[in-house]
Amino acid sequence: MFPFTHNPATLSLIINELGEDRENYFNAVAPPIIQTSNFAFKKVDELRAAFQDEMSTYLYSRGINPTVDILRKKLAALDEAEDALVFNNGAAAVFAGVLANVKAGDHIVSVQKPYTWAFKMFENILPRFGVTTSYIPGLTIEEWKAATRPNTTFFYLESPNSWNFTLQPLEEIAQFARERGIVTLIDNSHCSPLFQKPISLGIDLAMQTATKYISGHSDTLGGVLTGTKAMMKKIFDSEYNTAGAGMQPFNAFLMLRGLRTIVSRFERITTSTLTVLDSLKQHPAISELIFPFDASFPQFELAKKQMTGACGLITIILKAKTRAQIVTFCESLRHILMAVSWGGHESLAIPKCAGLFDHEFDPGNREHQMVRIYVGLEDPHYLIQDLEQAFAKANLG
Ligand SMILES: *Cc1c(COP(=O)(O)O)cnc(C)c1O
Repeated sequence: MFPFTHNPATLSLIINELGEDRENYFNAVAPPIIQTSNFAFKKVDELRAAFQDEMSTYLYSRGINPTVDILRKKLAALDEAEDALVFNNGAAAVFAGVLANVKAGDHIVSVQKPYTWAFKMFENILPRFGVTTSYIPGLTIEEWKAATRPNTTFFYLESPNSWNFTLQPLEEIAQFARERGIVTLIDNSHCSPLFQKPISLGIDLAMQTATKYISGHSDTLGGVLTGTKAMMKKIFDSEYNTAGAGMQPFNAFLMLRGLRTIVSRFERITTSTLTVLDSLKQHPAISELIFPFDASFPQFELAKKQMTGACGLITIILKAKTRAQIVTFCESLRHILMAVSWGGHESLAIPKCAGLFDHEFDPGNREHQMVRIYVGLEDPHYLIQDLEQAFAKANLG
């Protein structure tokens, strides 16, 4: 067993039992998909009570639904949070978490390269409502303090980042933010609650895409926000219900199905990632290897302090003189698929240069040479062979 954030018994309890009232549904082992839009009432007074506190009642499935509730309970427990809300995808969770906590005139400090759609919200949507954002590498607490203005009300974190894996010192940032009344949100998608518990480190809102490791099968999308009951209720009563971005019962069922195997998948992916990583160390095709739980990682000490592990994603920096070599490498992979996302059963590769035209490519720019590899559930040696033959085709090493 790898060192996860919870002990094995707690993980077993949360994943297999918590939130499941089987006696309510014929003792079925798998929870039913309560595929209903609305719930009927016998008393007008009960209906009125439901209107007044929709979060505590089954009234309408845009709000609260029993199948979705089981998932919410498990995800809140995994984060050691009081409550959770689940969304149709991760981007919706980010949107609701930020929007519920800013108003006209506010200033956000964000990590330099947040997830694409968080960045688009900061750049294209929030300025229309008088909310501005500045970006910092954010590696030290001093940077966060220096970037804070009198009107700063929100810190947007992503630790590790999903490309270069840079980290922020979460406990120090959370403490400073609390003193200033600044709300903190972290994108915890890389670690998932199995490797990092941001709420326990003092962060207000933990967000993760459930599309990746929670689902684990690349067949559905979802997003999660966890935090205090008061914070979840505030978001539920506004952004969650007005945007209507909550998760549907069938998708919640798929997420519950995915969760059952998350521990075994993480164990497998952790071992395989280390095997693949070893094969790439000192590789002639690669100038640099980035993995947050490797001794060579510049923030390895911080990683060990706030995470219990890392798996899946490895970024390699190719020794490519031309963009064409990176293209040949990626297009020569036979088993590793070229696609966005990660966290599923299938191994993936994605080159940074997919976002660049030929004339924009600079072989001297380390970032342009990046290829991110996701190690899935296949045999690691099968993956290593695939990488090797693609390196050779591209004349890399
Ligand atoms: C995929 C991803 C998201 C968004 O999640 P979706 O479910 O795809 O909307 C957010 N943050 C990170 C780091 C991601 O990789």
